[in-house]
Amino acid sequence: MQDTLTIALSKGRIFKETLPLLHHAGIEPVDDPETSRKLILDTNRDDVKLVIIRATDVPTYVQYGAADIGVAGKDVLMEHGGEGLYEPLDLGIARCRMMVAGPVGAPPVAGRLRIATKYVNCARRYFAEQGQQVEIIKLYGSMELAPLVGLADRIVDLVDTGNTLKANGLEPLEHMADISSRLIINKAAMKMKTDQVKAFTDRIAEAVAAREEAA
Ligand code: AMP
Repeated sequence: MQDTLTIALSKGRIFKETLPLLHHAGIEPVDDPETSRKLILDTNRDDVKLVIIRATDVPTYVQYGAADIGVAGKDVLMEHGGEGLYEPLDLGIARCRMMVAGPVGAPPVAGRLRIATKYVNCARRYFAEQGQQVEIIKLYGSMELAPLVGLADRIVDLVDTGNTLKANGLEPLEHMADISSRLIINKAAMKMKTDQVKAFTDRIAEAVAAREEAA
């Protein structure tokens, strides 16, 4: 009998954009996470289950082996640190950029910059590499508000079209990283369930390559 392969996904964009890749691997969820309250979803395959969790929790579930495989944004992985994980495949979905942004035309700030972000580790690392003294202010959402109300001089956030920045009188200033979703694998699962993990990863890689060829 085959072991069960547990795959951790978050709701919304990642789930929607991962579905066609799972389909290519012959995996169809039985329930829709947008309408079901179930956190563990069965699939058409007895040996594959999906766990639906917050995006920021996906690396933690996979790191501790509660899920064998996961799909997580590079932003979330950079913030987590990637300990205990393999990251074999860029899925090329949920693409955006991690950027420093600030009020349009804002003059340079004398002294320590105050940076509002939910990506405290990424921001700390980035500004340390730049040799810039900063104070990091941790927020959990709506970073764009912070400079408007004097909480921070700059923000570090994800930017896609740039419309959210624009709508709030902000502009992108520095490009920190290109972001997309990655397949991640628990290191022990890679050893213990090698054949299953490899078969799954190969099918997903094929689906990504086919999609990119068609684009
Ligand atoms: P936009 O207005 O298109 O630049 O999108 C910016 C808003 O969407 C910000 O609040 C971002 O945090 C969020 N966002 C953009 N792209 C992504 C992504 N790939 N994953 C998660 N959040 C994103």
